[in-house]
Amino acid sequence: MRLALIAVVALVGCTVSEPIPEGAGLTEACPRPNEISYVKTVDDSGIETFWHADDVSCITVYTDPIGRASPSPAEKHAAVQRSIATWNAAAEGCVLALCLRDGGSNPPAGAVGHNTSGANANVVTFIDDRGRWESTFPEAASAFGITLITSVVGSGRMVDSDIFVNEGRFAHSVASETEAGKADLESVITHELGHLLGFDHTQTALAVMFDSLGTGVAKRSLHPIDVTGLCELYACY
Ligand SMILES: [Zn+2]
Repeated sequence: MRLALIAVVALVGCTVSEPIPEGAGLTEACPRPNEISYVKTVDDSGIETFWHADDVSCITVYTDPIGRASPSPAEKHAAVQRSIATWNAAAEGCVLALCLRDGGSNPPAGAVGHNTSGANANVVTFIDDRGRWESTFPEAASAFGITLITSVVGSGRMVDSDIFVNEGRFAHSVASETEAGKADLESVITHELGHLLGFDHTQTALAVMFDSLGTGVAKRSLHPIDVTGLCELYACY
């Protein structure tokens, strides 16, 4: 049964008085011959959001394996690690400097959400309270997950991104062959990491960045469109 949107991306404009770094945004034309097939996330003013190589070479992603007892904390962390490896393999394939780095399963205290007065950490976390999920993310009540991005107004440079997995409404599976009635956790995380990297939903149904997925269905491998998007975007930054 096709049941749920896999995810929604929400942008949170960064309104702190951070200076916009030198060279913010693209300084020259960026060749993207395949851009029609993947979709970039833009902020409210239409500026693309991205991680800049001057700010970060490897984006550290922590796992905060709270929530339901099953999958276990170790299984949740392992699913995140596999999803990170999937995107890194694509980045290595087109020789990008940018990569994702597993930060482990013990994130810094207070790391979820954007910290306006100090360092930030990117975290995958889990919410197993359905009421709390629906009140926190009313636009994503039926989503398996959601990714929040904070970027600097005027430049689009990302400063923080956190991924939330909806365990209130859905059970998630880490079984190798998936499980009927459950969301496939690795598929959900792989999709949400695409949002963390700066992608919105594509119309291509086979792509990881398509906007819906059924329960009991795995989509753990990147489609050529997902790979092309990553390579073309980060060749420019
Ligand atoms: Zn999504």
